[in-house]
Amino acid sequence: MPRMEPFATSIFGEMSTIAAETGAINLGQGFPDTDGPDEIKMVARAAIAEGKGNQYPPVHGLPDLRAAIAEHQERFYGLRVDPATDVVVTTGASEAIQSALLALCDTGDEVVVFEPWFDIYAVGIALANATRVSVPLRPPAFRPDIDALRAAITDRTRLLLLNTPHNPTGVVFTPEELQAIADLAIERDLIVISDEAYEHLWYDGHPHVPIATLPGMAERTVTIGSAGKSFSFTGWKVGWATGPTDLIRAVRAVRQHLSFVSGGPFQYAIAHALRMPDSYFEDFRHGLQEQRDILTSGLRELGFHAVESEGTYFLTTDLGPLSDYPDALTAARELPHRAGVVAIPLQVFCDHAGVGERALRWAYCKRPEVLREALGRLTALA
Ligand code: GLN
Repeated sequence: MPRMEPFATSIFGEMSTIAAETGAINLGQGFPDTDGPDEIKMVARAAIAEGKGNQYPPVHGLPDLRAAIAEHQERFYGLRVDPATDVVVTTGASEAIQSALLALCDTGDEVVVFEPWFDIYAVGIALANATRVSVPLRPPAFRPDIDALRAAITDRTRLLLLNTPHNPTGVVFTPEELQAIADLAIERDLIVISDEAYEHLWYDGHPHVPIATLPGMAERTVTIGSAGKSFSFTGWKVGWATGPTDLIRAVRAVRQHLSFVSGGPFQYAIAHALRMPDSYFEDFRHGLQEQRDILTSGLRELGFHAVESEGTYFLTTDLGPLSDYPDALTAARELPHRAGVVAIPLQVFCDHAGVGERALRWAYCKRPEVLREALGRLTALA
Protein backbone atom coordinates (compact mmCIF):
# COMPACT_ATOMS: atom_id res chain seq x y z
CA MET A 1 0.00 0.00 0.00
CA PRO A 2 1.76 3.18 -1.13
CA ARG A 3 0.73 5.23 1.89
CA MET A 4 2.58 2.76 4.13
CA GLU A 5 5.82 2.75 2.12
CA PRO A 6 7.44 5.62 4.07
CA PHE A 7 7.12 3.50 7.20
CA ALA A 8 8.83 0.34 5.96
CA THR A 9 11.62 0.66 8.52
CA SER A 10 11.56 2.16 12.00
CA ILE A 11 14.44 4.30 13.23
CA PHE A 12 14.35 2.45 16.57
CA GLY A 13 14.73 -0.92 14.83
CA GLU A 14 17.50 0.42 12.59
CA MET A 15 19.50 2.01 15.40
CA SER A 16 19.05 -0.92 17.83
CA THR A 17 20.30 -3.27 15.10
CA ILE A 18 23.38 -1.09 14.59
CA ALA A 19 23.93 -1.10 18.36
CA ALA A 20 23.77 -4.90 18.45
CA GLU A 21 26.08 -5.27 15.44
CA THR A 22 28.70 -2.81 16.63
CA GLY A 23 28.51 -3.42 20.39
CA ALA A 24 27.61 0.23 20.85
CA ILE A 25 25.88 1.43 24.01
CA ASN A 26 22.26 1.93 23.01
CA LEU A 27 21.07 5.37 24.09
CA GLY A 28 18.63 5.22 21.17
CA GLN A 29 15.52 3.18 21.83
CA GLY A 30 13.87 4.29 25.07
CA PHE A 31 13.69 1.40 27.49
CA PRO A 32 15.16 1.18 30.99
CA ASP A 33 18.02 -1.24 31.65
CA THR A 34 16.66 -1.91 35.15
CA ASP A 35 13.34 -3.72 35.66
CA GLY A 36 10.54 -2.31 37.79
CA PRO A 37 9.87 -3.39 41.40
CA ASP A 38 10.06 -7.07 42.38
CA GLU A 39 6.71 -6.86 44.13
CA ILE A 40 5.06 -6.21 40.76
CA LYS A 41 6.86 -9.19 39.20
CA MET A 42 5.69 -11.37 42.10
CA VAL A 43 2.06 -10.55 41.42
CA ALA A 44 2.48 -11.56 37.77
CA ARG A 45 4.26 -14.78 38.75
CA ALA A 46 1.58 -15.64 41.31
CA ALA A 47 -1.17 -14.94 38.77
CA ILE A 48 0.42 -17.38 36.31
CA ALA A 49 0.89 -20.02 39.03
CA GLU A 50 -2.66 -19.64 40.29
CA GLY A 51 -4.20 -19.76 36.84
CA LYS A 52 -5.31 -16.12 36.87
CA GLY A 53 -5.32 -14.51 33.45
CA ASN A 54 -3.74 -17.44 31.60
CA GLN A 55 -6.80 -17.55 29.34
CA TYR A 56 -8.29 -14.50 27.61
CA PRO A 57 -9.10 -11.82 30.15
CA PRO A 58 -12.24 -9.69 29.61
CA VAL A 59 -12.05 -7.92 26.27
CA HIS A 60 -11.84 -4.33 27.55
CA GLY A 61 -9.49 -5.25 30.40
CA LEU A 62 -9.58 -7.00 33.75
CA PRO A 63 -12.27 -5.22 35.86
CA ASP A 64 -9.86 -4.80 38.78
CA LEU A 65 -7.25 -3.20 36.50
CA ARG A 66 -9.87 -0.85 35.07
CA ALA A 67 -10.83 0.05 38.65
CA ALA A 68 -7.16 0.65 39.50
CA ILE A 69 -6.73 2.90 36.43
CA ALA A 70 -9.80 4.92 37.44
CA GLU A 71 -8.45 5.21 41.03
CA HIS A 72 -5.09 6.36 39.64
CA GLN A 73 -6.71 9.09 37.52
CA GLU A 74 -8.59 10.37 40.56
CA ARG A 75 -5.69 10.03 43.00
CA PHE A 76 -3.14 11.90 40.89
CA TYR A 77 -5.32 14.29 38.90
CA GLY A 78 -8.81 14.44 40.44
CA LEU A 79 -10.23 13.02 37.19
CA ARG A 80 -13.29 10.82 37.64
CA VAL A 81 -13.90 8.06 35.12
CA ASP A 82 -16.25 5.10 35.38
CA PRO A 83 -14.22 1.88 35.11
CA ALA A 84 -17.23 0.12 33.57
CA THR A 85 -17.53 2.47 30.59
CA ASP A 86 -14.73 5.05 30.47
CA VAL A 87 -11.57 2.90 30.61
CA VAL A 88 -10.05 0.43 28.17
CA VAL A 89 -6.93 -1.65 28.69
CA THR A 90 -4.69 -1.87 25.64
CA THR A 91 -1.63 -3.74 24.41
CA GLY A 92 0.69 -0.90 25.34
CA ALA A 93 0.06 2.81 24.90
CA SER A 94 0.87 2.22 21.22
CA GLU A 95 -2.31 0.24 20.67
CA ALA A 96 -4.31 2.85 22.59
CA ILE A 97 -2.97 5.57 20.26
CA GLN A 98 -3.58 3.59 17.08
CA SER A 99 -7.07 2.48 18.15
CA ALA A 100 -8.02 6.03 19.05
CA LEU A 101 -6.81 7.35 15.68
CA LEU A 102 -8.60 4.60 13.75
CA ALA A 103 -11.78 5.06 15.80
CA LEU A 104 -11.96 8.83 15.85
CA CYS A 105 -10.87 10.00 12.40
CA ASP A 106 -11.86 9.18 8.90
CA THR A 107 -10.62 9.52 5.33
CA GLY A 108 -9.61 13.10 4.65
CA ASP A 109 -9.81 14.32 8.22
CA GLU A 110 -6.85 16.39 9.34
CA VAL A 111 -4.99 15.49 12.49
CA VAL A 112 -2.87 18.24 13.99
CA VAL A 113 0.25 17.09 15.80
CA PHE A 114 3.31 18.81 17.20
CA GLU A 115 6.57 18.07 15.42
CA PRO A 116 8.94 16.29 16.06
CA TRP A 117 6.22 13.64 16.42
CA PHE A 118 6.67 10.13 17.75
CA ASP A 119 6.92 7.83 14.72
CA ILE A 120 3.79 5.75 15.30
CA TYR A 121 1.58 8.86 15.19
CA ALA A 122 2.44 9.27 11.52
CA VAL A 123 1.71 5.59 10.90
CA GLY A 124 -1.63 5.68 12.74
CA ILE A 125 -2.76 8.79 10.88
CA ALA A 126 -1.82 7.14 7.58
CA LEU A 127 -3.61 3.89 8.54
CA ALA A 128 -6.74 5.93 9.23
CA ASN A 129 -6.31 7.49 5.77
CA ALA A 130 -6.32 10.87 7.48
CA THR A 131 -3.92 13.75 6.83
CA ARG A 132 -1.09 14.73 9.14
CA VAL A 133 -0.71 18.46 9.75
CA SER A 134 2.32 19.13 11.89
CA VAL A 135 3.18 22.20 13.91
CA PRO A 136 6.89 22.59 14.62
CA LEU A 137 8.34 22.83 18.09
CA ARG A 138 11.30 24.94 16.99
CA PRO A 139 14.83 24.62 18.33
CA PRO A 140 16.58 25.62 20.48
CA ALA A 141 13.77 25.56 23.09
CA PHE A 142 11.20 23.32 21.31
CA ARG A 143 8.26 25.09 23.02
CA PRO A 144 4.78 24.98 21.45
CA ASP A 145 3.87 28.00 19.29
CA ILE A 146 0.16 28.65 19.85
CA ASP A 147 -0.15 31.02 16.88
CA ALA A 148 1.29 28.35 14.61
CA LEU A 149 -1.14 25.84 16.10
CA ARG A 150 -4.08 28.16 15.48
CA ALA A 151 -2.96 28.67 11.89
CA ALA A 152 -2.74 24.91 11.32
CA ILE A 153 -6.37 24.25 12.29
CA THR A 154 -8.80 24.20 9.35
CA ASP A 155 -12.42 23.22 8.79
CA ARG A 156 -11.19 19.69 8.11
CA THR A 157 -9.32 19.37 11.41
CA ARG A 158 -10.91 16.63 13.47
CA LEU A 159 -8.32 15.79 16.06
CA LEU A 160 -5.45 17.23 17.99
CA LEU A 161 -2.86 14.62 18.94
CA LEU A 162 -0.95 15.86 21.94
CA ASN A 163 1.99 14.37 23.81
CA THR A 164 3.30 15.65 27.12
CA PRO A 165 5.82 14.95 28.62
CA HIS A 166 7.03 15.09 25.04
CA ASN A 167 8.98 12.40 23.23
CA PRO A 168 11.49 13.04 21.67
CA THR A 169 12.31 16.53 22.98
CA GLY A 170 11.87 16.05 26.76
CA VAL A 171 9.71 19.20 26.96
CA VAL A 172 6.83 19.18 29.48
CA PHE A 173 4.00 21.50 28.42
CA THR A 174 3.21 24.14 31.04
CA PRO A 175 -0.31 24.72 32.41
CA GLU A 176 -0.40 28.00 30.43
CA GLU A 177 0.57 26.26 27.18
CA LEU A 178 -2.02 23.56 27.82
CA GLN A 179 -4.70 26.15 28.58
CA ALA A 180 -4.00 27.90 25.28
CA ILE A 181 -4.23 24.56 23.45
CA ALA A 182 -7.45 23.71 25.32
CA ASP A 183 -8.97 27.09 24.39
CA LEU A 184 -8.35 26.31 20.71
CA ALA A 185 -9.70 22.75 21.01
CA ILE A 186 -12.91 24.08 22.56
CA GLU A 187 -13.26 27.00 20.14
CA ARG A 188 -12.78 24.71 17.11
CA ASP A 189 -14.64 21.75 18.66
CA LEU A 190 -11.76 19.29 18.33
CA ILE A 191 -11.25 15.92 19.95
CA VAL A 192 -7.90 15.61 21.73
CA ILE A 193 -5.91 12.41 22.00
CA SER A 194 -3.44 13.04 24.80
CA ASP A 195 -0.51 10.63 24.91
CA GLU A 196 0.64 10.78 28.53
CA ALA A 197 2.82 7.67 28.49
CA TYR A 198 5.51 9.59 30.43
CA GLU A 199 3.07 11.08 32.98
CA HIS A 200 5.18 10.05 35.98
CA LEU A 201 8.53 10.95 34.42
CA TRP A 202 8.86 14.67 35.06
CA TYR A 203 11.54 16.50 36.97
CA ASP A 204 12.27 19.60 39.06
CA GLY A 205 9.45 22.09 38.93
CA HIS A 206 7.79 20.69 35.80
CA PRO A 207 4.87 18.56 36.99
CA HIS A 208 2.77 16.86 34.38
CA VAL A 209 -0.73 18.28 33.91
CA PRO A 210 -3.26 16.17 31.96
CA ILE A 211 -5.14 18.41 29.53
CA ALA A 212 -8.35 16.58 30.54
CA THR A 213 -8.17 18.37 33.91
CA LEU A 214 -8.76 21.77 32.28
CA PRO A 215 -12.35 23.07 32.16
CA GLY A 216 -14.31 21.80 29.16
CA MET A 217 -11.65 19.24 28.21
CA ALA A 218 -12.61 15.98 29.97
CA GLU A 219 -15.57 15.55 27.62
CA ARG A 220 -13.41 15.83 24.48
CA THR A 221 -10.18 14.11 25.53
CA VAL A 222 -8.93 10.54 25.31
CA THR A 223 -6.04 10.24 27.77
CA ILE A 224 -3.48 7.49 27.27
CA GLY A 225 -1.21 5.90 29.88
CA SER A 226 1.56 3.31 29.86
CA ALA A 227 2.44 0.71 32.48
CA GLY A 228 5.66 0.06 30.58
CA LYS A 229 6.84 3.60 31.19
CA SER A 230 5.33 4.18 34.65
CA PHE A 231 6.62 0.89 36.11
CA SER A 232 9.63 -0.02 33.91
CA PHE A 233 8.10 -3.07 32.25
CA THR A 234 8.12 -1.98 28.61
CA GLY A 235 8.04 -5.61 27.44
CA TRP A 236 4.76 -6.36 29.18
CA LYS A 237 2.80 -4.14 26.81
CA VAL A 238 0.03 -2.94 29.10
CA GLY A 239 -1.43 0.49 28.46
CA TRP A 240 -4.81 2.14 28.68
CA ALA A 241 -7.09 4.88 27.49
CA THR A 242 -9.57 6.80 29.62
CA GLY A 243 -12.12 9.41 28.64
CA PRO A 244 -15.79 10.16 28.15
CA THR A 245 -18.06 7.17 27.55
CA ASP A 246 -18.85 7.98 23.91
CA LEU A 247 -15.20 8.32 22.87
CA ILE A 248 -14.07 5.25 24.83
CA ARG A 249 -16.94 3.24 23.34
CA ALA A 250 -15.56 4.11 19.89
CA VAL A 251 -11.99 3.24 20.89
CA ARG A 252 -13.11 -0.08 22.40
CA ALA A 253 -15.00 -1.00 19.24
CA VAL A 254 -11.82 -0.74 17.15
CA ARG A 255 -9.33 -2.00 19.70
CA GLN A 256 -11.04 -5.32 20.39
CA HIS A 257 -10.34 -6.24 16.75
CA LEU A 258 -6.62 -5.41 16.95
CA SER A 259 -4.87 -7.38 19.71
CA PHE A 260 -8.22 -8.49 21.26
CA VAL A 261 -6.69 -8.53 24.77
CA SER A 262 -3.40 -7.69 26.48
CA GLY A 263 -1.57 -10.33 28.60
CA GLY A 264 -3.80 -11.48 31.47
CA PRO A 265 -1.30 -12.12 34.31
CA PHE A 266 0.36 -8.77 33.64
CA GLN A 267 -2.98 -7.04 34.11
CA TYR A 268 -3.19 -8.37 37.68
CA ALA A 269 0.34 -7.10 38.30
CA ILE A 270 -0.33 -3.63 36.92
CA ALA A 271 -3.51 -3.30 38.99
CA HIS A 272 -1.24 -3.81 42.02
CA ALA A 273 1.38 -1.40 40.64
CA LEU A 274 -1.07 1.45 40.12
CA ARG A 275 -2.00 1.28 43.81
CA MET A 276 1.57 1.51 45.11
CA PRO A 277 2.27 4.37 47.54
CA ASP A 278 3.37 7.82 46.44
CA SER A 279 6.92 6.99 47.58
CA TYR A 280 7.30 4.57 44.64
CA PHE A 281 6.47 7.28 42.12
CA GLU A 282 8.68 9.85 43.85
CA ASP A 283 11.70 7.55 44.15
CA PHE A 284 11.33 6.46 40.54
CA ARG A 285 11.28 10.07 39.40
CA HIS A 286 14.27 11.03 41.54
CA GLY A 287 16.32 8.11 40.22
CA LEU A 288 15.64 9.09 36.63
CA GLN A 289 16.41 12.72 37.39
CA GLU A 290 19.88 11.70 38.61
CA GLN A 291 20.46 9.74 35.41
CA ARG A 292 19.29 12.74 33.39
CA ASP A 293 21.73 14.97 35.25
CA ILE A 294 24.68 12.64 34.62
CA LEU A 295 24.03 12.52 30.89
CA THR A 296 23.15 16.20 30.52
CA SER A 297 26.25 17.50 32.27
CA GLY A 298 28.46 14.93 30.57
CA LEU A 299 27.22 15.83 27.08
CA ARG A 300 27.59 19.54 27.85
CA GLU A 301 31.22 18.99 28.87
CA LEU A 302 31.77 17.27 25.54
CA GLY A 303 30.53 20.36 23.69
CA PHE A 304 26.92 19.45 22.96
CA HIS A 305 24.25 22.09 23.57
CA ALA A 306 21.65 20.19 25.64
CA VAL A 307 18.05 21.32 26.02
CA GLU A 308 17.00 20.87 29.66
CA SER A 309 14.98 17.66 29.76
CA GLU A 310 11.90 18.38 31.88
CA GLY A 311 10.44 14.90 31.49
CA THR A 312 10.47 11.51 29.66
CA TYR A 313 13.55 9.30 29.24
CA PHE A 314 15.09 11.64 26.70
CA LEU A 315 17.26 14.64 26.25
CA THR A 316 17.83 16.57 23.07
CA THR A 317 21.12 18.14 21.95
CA ASP A 318 22.52 19.80 18.90
CA LEU A 319 25.24 18.01 16.91
CA GLY A 320 28.03 19.45 19.09
CA PRO A 321 31.34 17.79 18.12
CA LEU A 322 29.49 16.03 15.27
CA SER A 323 28.66 19.35 13.62
CA ASP A 324 30.77 18.55 10.57
CA TYR A 325 28.20 16.01 9.44
CA PRO A 326 25.60 17.32 6.99
CA ASP A 327 22.68 16.33 9.21
CA ALA A 328 21.61 14.41 12.31
CA LEU A 329 20.71 11.22 10.44
CA THR A 330 24.19 10.94 8.94
CA ALA A 331 25.78 11.77 12.30
CA ALA A 332 23.62 9.21 14.13
CA ARG A 333 24.52 6.49 11.62
CA GLU A 334 28.25 7.26 12.02
CA LEU A 335 28.27 7.72 15.79
CA PRO A 336 28.26 3.99 16.74
CA HIS A 337 31.26 3.40 14.47
CA ARG A 338 33.13 6.51 15.65
CA ALA A 339 32.41 6.30 19.37
CA GLY A 340 30.43 3.13 20.21
CA VAL A 341 27.24 4.96 21.23
CA VAL A 342 23.80 5.11 19.59
CA ALA A 343 21.51 8.16 19.58
CA ILE A 344 18.35 8.95 17.57
CA PRO A 345 18.22 11.74 14.95
CA LEU A 346 15.19 14.01 15.38
CA GLN A 347 14.85 14.76 11.69
CA VAL A 348 13.09 11.45 11.02
CA PHE A 349 10.19 12.75 13.14
CA CYS A 350 9.79 16.01 11.22
CA ASP A 351 7.95 17.42 8.18
CA HIS A 352 9.40 20.94 8.24
CA ALA A 353 12.94 22.11 7.54
CA GLY A 354 14.85 23.64 10.42
CA VAL A 355 13.42 21.53 13.23
CA GLY A 356 15.30 18.26 13.55
CA GLU A 357 18.19 18.19 11.08
CA ARG A 358 20.69 19.31 13.70
CA ALA A 359 19.24 17.52 16.73
CA LEU A 360 19.92 14.20 18.47
CA ARG A 361 17.86 12.41 21.12
CA TRP A 362 19.71 10.56 23.89
CA ALA A 363 17.99 8.10 26.27
CA TYR A 364 19.15 8.41 29.87
CA CYS A 365 16.98 5.60 31.32
CA LYS A 366 20.16 3.58 31.83
CA ARG A 367 22.21 2.74 34.93
CA PRO A 368 24.64 5.50 35.96
CA GLU A 369 27.67 3.29 35.18
CA VAL A 370 26.34 2.70 31.66
CA LEU A 371 25.84 6.44 31.13
CA ARG A 372 29.39 7.13 32.39
CA GLU A 373 30.80 4.45 30.10
CA ALA A 374 28.95 6.04 27.16
CA LEU A 375 30.29 9.48 28.07
CA GLY A 376 33.80 8.01 28.31
CA ARG A 377 33.45 6.58 24.82
CA LEU A 378 32.18 9.89 23.47
CA THR A 379 35.43 11.60 24.45
CA ALA A 380 36.76 9.93 21.27
CA LEU A 381 34.92 12.69 19.35
CA ALA A 382 37.10 15.43 20.82
N1 GLN B 1 8.99 4.69 23.05
C1 GLN B 1 10.34 4.24 22.87
C2 GLN B 1 11.18 5.31 22.23
O1 GLN B 1 10.71 6.36 21.89
C3 GLN B 1 10.41 2.98 22.04
C4 GLN B 1 9.96 3.14 20.65
C5 GLN B 1 9.96 1.90 19.81
O2 GLN B 1 10.88 1.10 19.88
N2 GLN B 1 8.98 1.74 19.01
O3 GLN B 1 12.36 5.10 22.11
